[in-house]
Amino acid sequence: MAVIGIDLGTTNSLAAYWADGQPRLIADECGQVLFPSVVSYICGEGLAVGTQAKKRILTHKKDTAASFKRFMGTEKKYRLGEKDYTPMELSAMVLERIKKNAEYFLKEEIEEAVITVPAYFNDKQRSDTKKAAKIAGLSVKRLINEPSAAALAYRTTYGEKDLTLLVFDFGGGTLDLSYVECFDNIIEIVAVAGDNYLGGDDIDQLIAKYFCEENGLAWKENDALTQNCRTENNSTRIDLTISEYAALMQCAEDAKCRLEQENEVELVLEVSGKTYTSKLNQDILFEICMPLFSRIKKLFIHILRDAQARVSDLDDLIMVGGSSRLTVVKRFLTELLGKEPIVLGETDKVVAMGAGVYAGIRARREDIRDMLLTDVCPFTLGVETWRKKSDLQGYLLPMIERNSTLPTSHCQRLVTMNDYQDGITVRIYQGEEYYAKDNLFLGEISIPVYPKPAGEEWIDVYFTYDINGLLYVEVANAQGIRNHILLSNQELSRSELERYRKEMQKLMIPPIQQEENKKILEELTQYYHNSVGGQREQIGLFINWFARYLHSGRRYLIVQAVEKAKQQVQFLEESQDRAEEFLFDGELNVLLEEESEEY
Ligand code: ADP
Ligand code: MG
Repeated sequence: MAVIGIDLGTTNSLAAYWADGQPRLIADECGQVLFPSVVSYICGEGLAVGTQAKKRILTHKKDTAASFKRFMGTEKKYRLGEKDYTPMELSAMVLERIKKNAEYFLKEEIEEAVITVPAYFNDKQRSDTKKAAKIAGLSVKRLINEPSAAALAYRTTYGEKDLTLLVFDFGGGTLDLSYVECFDNIIEIVAVAGDNYLGGDDIDQLIAKYFCEENGLAWKENDALTQNCRTENNSTRIDLTISEYAALMQCAEDAKCRLEQENEVELVLEVSGKTYTSKLNQDILFEICMPLFSRIKKLFIHILRDAQARVSDLDDLIMVGGSSRLTVVKRFLTELLGKEPIVLGETDKVVAMGAGVYAGIRARREDIRDMLLTDVCPFTLGVETWRKKSDLQGYLLPMIERNSTLPTSHCQRLVTMNDYQDGITVRIYQGEEYYAKDNLFLGEISIPVYPKPAGEEWIDVYFTYDINGLLYVEVANAQGIRNHILLSNQELSRSELERYRKEMQKLMIPPIQQEENKKILEELTQYYHNSVGGQREQIGLFINWFARYLHSGRRYLIVQAVEKAKQQVQFLEESQDRAEEFLFDGELNVLLEEESEEY
């Protein structure tokens, strides 16, 4: 039975599967592969999903739900006809149709799927995506991050060399940037950044606004989407009716898409029987998009800072999402980065193609190699603590910082706050807010402590978070009593719980304490002891460099650093008997030069 990969998008959704050594897209009865993520209520007919619903977005705004993915994980209600629907229920309707399309297309029953989600989705958003799939009759083999899917598609196209990518995913309503490292069979997301209100819709609005200005028509703000547009209250201008406005937005989007093939296009709109026109070309569109470009530039700065990287560290930038088709966007990125981005076929299908590759992996197809997709933890995980006893509210002490590579582990010692308290309750939260209570509460765990004056008793708290969204928290008091809790966004059976707990316990060992790395450090230290002068100093610097990498939490870098350290040990071993001058001209110096560049 086939496993399908689904890109459940904000604007469009689509599905792919693995066949004959490559991912293939699934088309509906009409041959369409893009399926609008829109649901609309049609009086007397019921609910419409997809293309038919999309046509009603502007004309029947009240009865139509679109872009609900933005509110996934919340209880926001969309009233369609007589009933209220949550984003999860609406997503379920989209998934159900995709499942039906796939069954029709593949002529077999589909029960299993991998679904892509934005890398920054939190536990609640992920678990609601899974629930939506369940309602649609699909069992989710795994949720994969959209940028990981894009990287998988890239590697299927360009081969599996080690490299660092920036995935630029510019869709209908959102822009997501991800810094991704690919090495061996591992695809690792190092950092993510994004804007939930920056997408193709905003470009349409800017074009429409430009059209109105050119023709003396009154521009009305559609909604809060376009932050850079201001409503103009010029009463001499002509107001548009709702259907004229809908036609204008459609006309703007069409013109934008036509510009992909033509150098110049014309927008034509009838208002109260009179025809208005205006021309659009690449240069005008570039000017129109300027406000958006400056926001994009800020996001680049943000992500590079989070990844502690520079533009020159990037091997390639890959463009994903429908809005990445725009020539002006490509031109802007080329100017920004000083090199051409990579376009993998049709940009709005790349994530689905990657999902199709992963579907092949999960179906255990032999013509495809297993890949390990790691994740970043998109939000900070922490515990509630108090700085002073008099504090009115507890603040969030971060245990696992956002953008940490998963799986990851961290340990922190906490001391007692009150005299003779006989227990500590550790309250666990997810989020970026200062006060603990303003974050998402995940669970709590208690442990007894020996009653002593405040500050004299302590507990160690271990946090381990893995790629399946499982958070394992273990607490241990000074007497060695331990307690643990496993928090998950999915329902687990007893035996699964036990298995996960064992796996997570293994992960609790940070790289600096792993046997292999400890041994390398010991050996290096031995060489340090046995040498003098400049050589000793250089080995000392190397040890320091290596230890810093082991603490960095960046698995790709750690793998490389371990490799280098092994070479270093081997080199020291070989040159032990050689003359000192030779050693100074040797590889050690080369390594140290590299070090000063890297850190
Ligand atoms: P999402 O990931 O948000 O579901 P997509 O990646 O499918 O969305 O992108 C949808 C956006 O892409 C829409 O704003 C649409 O106008 C835009 N788009 C689609 N085709 C083109 C094109 N040829 N040129 C420019 N923009 C396009
Ligand atoms: Mg998308």
